[in-house]
Amino acid sequence: MARAIILMGGNVGDVKSRLQSAQRLINRNVGPVMRCSHRYTSPAWGFDSDEFSNQVVEVDTDLQPEALLDALQGIEQELGRDRTAEAAEKARTGARYSSRKIDLDILFYDDEVIRTERLTVPHPLIPAREFVLVPLCEWMRDYRHPVEGKTIGELLDVLNKKNGNEKA
Ligand code: AMP
Repeated sequence: MARAIILMGGNVGDVKSRLQSAQRLINRNVGPVMRCSHRYTSPAWGFDSDEFSNQVVEVDTDLQPEALLDALQGIEQELGRDRTAEAAEKARTGARYSSRKIDLDILFYDDEVIRTERLTVPHPLIPAREFVLVPLCEWMRDYRHPVEGKTIGELLDVLNKKNGNEKA
């Protein structure tokens, strides 16, 4: 049994109910959801579009990391994510990111450090994303990131300082 931390997010349509459905499907297909953060809304990150809603869940799972990724991609599909349409939008706008109904990312898988063709865990953008660090702080403020060597709370402090300096 492993403890996986999953980031759920989206910015198209009724994201609130889609996040609820994603949580239900994670509970059914991946394993029991042990904790779920509040829903954190923020302006779209990296491209110009609707606001994003994000939520972090902790799940106990017997799935190995790549099987977990398969299960999450299956849930994304079930909830209407259309990767072909996203690719077309990226090609049209030239942006790195596109609108998405639902996105499920693996943030942590126990304390494992995984680098395969399909997976980078811990997710590499954790230290750069307030919408990940803030909900994580609800119960993992003191958790030490196995690659960065800092706690989630410390990573958030570093990011806030950086953002504060940029704004100043
Ligand atoms: P996305 O467009 O955000 O759904 O991610 C595209 C690809 O990122 C997926 O096809 C995965 O193979 C890859 N990926 C790498 N690391 C991760 C991770 N930690 N969680 C989810 N997807 C990942």
